[in-house]
Amino acid sequence: MSMSVRVDPATGLKTFATRAAKATDRIAGKGYSIITDESLKTLPELPPGATFNASEQAKYREFKEARAGAADYMTMEGEFAKYLDDVYSADPIPREALTDECEILVVGAGFAGLLLWHKLRDAGFNDVRFCEKGGDVGGTWYWNRYPGIACDVESYSYFPLLEEMGYVPTMKFASGFEILEYCQKMADKFGFYDHCLFHTTVEATTWDETTGRWTVTTDRGDRMRARFVILANGILTTPKLARIEGMETYKGIAFHTSRWNYNVDLAGKRVGIIGTGATAVQAIPELAKIVKELYVFQRTPSSIDIRDQRATTEEEVRTWANEPGWARARRARFAKISAGRTAIQANDDYLAGRVPDFKERKQYERMLSPEELLEKQLDANFRIMEQIRARVDAIVKDPKTAAALKPYYPYGCKRPTFHDEYLPCFNLPHVHLVDTAPHGVRRINEKGVVHDGVDYPVDVLIYATGFQWMATSTFNMITGRNGHTLKRKWETEGTKTFLGLHSHGFPNLFIVAGPQGGGGSFNFTDAIETHGDYVVWLLTTMRERGDRIVDIREEPESAYAEHCRTMDIATAPLRDCITYYNGEGTAEPGSLAYYGGNRWHKYRVEAQTTLAPYVFEGAR
Ligand SMILES: Cc1cc2nc3c(=O)[nH]c(=O)nc-3n(C[C@H](O)[C@H](O)[C@H](O)COP(=O)(O)OP(=O)(O)OC[C@H]3O[C@@H](n4cnc5c(N)ncnc54)[C@H](O)[C@@H]3O)c2cc1C
Repeated sequence: MSMSVRVDPATGLKTFATRAAKATDRIAGKGYSIITDESLKTLPELPPGATFNASEQAKYREFKEARAGAADYMTMEGEFAKYLDDVYSADPIPREALTDECEILVVGAGFAGLLLWHKLRDAGFNDVRFCEKGGDVGGTWYWNRYPGIACDVESYSYFPLLEEMGYVPTMKFASGFEILEYCQKMADKFGFYDHCLFHTTVEATTWDETTGRWTVTTDRGDRMRARFVILANGILTTPKLARIEGMETYKGIAFHTSRWNYNVDLAGKRVGIIGTGATAVQAIPELAKIVKELYVFQRTPSSIDIRDQRATTEEEVRTWANEPGWARARRARFAKISAGRTAIQANDDYLAGRVPDFKERKQYERMLSPEELLEKQLDANFRIMEQIRARVDAIVKDPKTAAALKPYYPYGCKRPTFHDEYLPCFNLPHVHLVDTAPHGVRRINEKGVVHDGVDYPVDVLIYATGFQWMATSTFNMITGRNGHTLKRKWETEGTKTFLGLHSHGFPNLFIVAGPQGGGGSFNFTDAIETHGDYVVWLLTTMRERGDRIVDIREEPESAYAEHCRTMDIATAPLRDCITYYNGEGTAEPGSLAYYGGNRWHKYRVEAQTTLAPYVFEGAR
């Protein structure tokens, strides 16, 4: 047995030492700066009477229709596979292939993997093994290390287990580098590293009916058996590239934002960045500080809300030290701010518990119909977007650039972004917005980007083209009962799960934070916690009952999938744009995120009370 795989004499279980070293010390960065200029972090007044009238609706529709079919993404295979290389860690730690058995095997070592371990260990499940593609923990925060990276959900609510860890984030919106370190601290404190096989990609997971076990095979030649498999593979894990003619001919240096190349010194270089989504909004202000020329290729502008970054105050640290339960209470309050605009001052007071609610609740004389309620929501949403558009005019000096930077779609339809330095960048002489609306960049040559007959030669080309949403290769490699694959089931019957956590015909398999998985909020670690609690509840229930296998019945699964579809359709006008959230306008209703709010908990509680949706089996 190698040094990286040992047997713990106390438990007889294998322990691992496979965490890879950092590739280079050049990988370092910070998140948002604190801005002192009040004008940059103050929003123009909300236009009080503005309504989403017919002409405004027409403008939104035109904006959307012009972009229909423009999104054309491709997977990173063949010559593009290099964009997926792990650039953050040194070579994998050598180890022998494993052909043994464990009780629970988890795919992924991001926040979901870490939280699952914490909960499983507390519940007395120790024979747990994790497989992680990357060289260390962190998931999203391992892979994404671009300059300026930070969480958009305030860190006091986003970081899980703050009190258990005895930690207070340094900033209201912590840098991704601080979040990664926090994940590493969690792994150290809870003994996670002993349980994880890093640089190990799970390639296939197959159910064996005779033994009642999953066989899990990996790219390291492992062929392990596990009674339970938990997919904690993330929602924004698989980077995607836009398909652009000639991109393979580009001779300069190119990379995707989720594999940032710290070996290239960008100082003094001409840099192009394709895409203006949430990543680009964070990276562009940092790039603008160092590069010689920056070309920003935009198809669709993001909504840029205020950030109001600040350091955690000494008073907060003191108060929280004497307030047991503060972090949990704050996370629970956060979950009620559905639009996620937590940077707004009033919201900060609410989150700290200084005021009872984050907004004045309107009292209507009579119950509004769902249609009337939707109309009110659309008007309120329109006013937020008017404010965001007015902010562009207030900051960006060149009227043509300002016009191009204004988004016309409902707030929250595309992922909202928050920044106080992004818009001012476009007043800098060396930052150029290249408006490629509505079709986006169509041509790249050996020197750089070509748009509208103009050549934009660049030394470095950065793809800020995002990720597949709720679609990871992991879902494509599960073979359940009777040789049926999850991929085929979802392709032929539509996405079908119960609570997003189980799928009929795939016993002892749980999906954390996947399609149709509700119970969370704008804050993803919330959903991860809720799903982790559910999985541990079910495993504990089975242990108490002496059951070894659980599957979900077909009828409750179909009813739940129908519910997801209905809720998606009912709330769709609030998300009427082309966005990765709706598969660029092509996803079947109900097949991706869950839009039923707290109804998810009703389904969950009923299932947990009656146990009716489950089929349990005893020992095998
Ligand atoms: C740039 C960025 C910023 C974000 N900011 C926020 C924010 O501010 N607030 C918020 O709530 N959410 C944010 N998110 C969403 C974020 O993904 C979640 O908050 C959270 O980190 C997800 O944790 P996870 O463990 O579920 O998934 P991940 O962090 O994605 O981890 C999944 C892990 O599974 C591994 N994996 C996948 N497939 C396999 C396989 N076949 N074999 C082995 N390993 C595999 C991956 O390598 C990855 O490490 C952000 C996402 C991105 C990309």
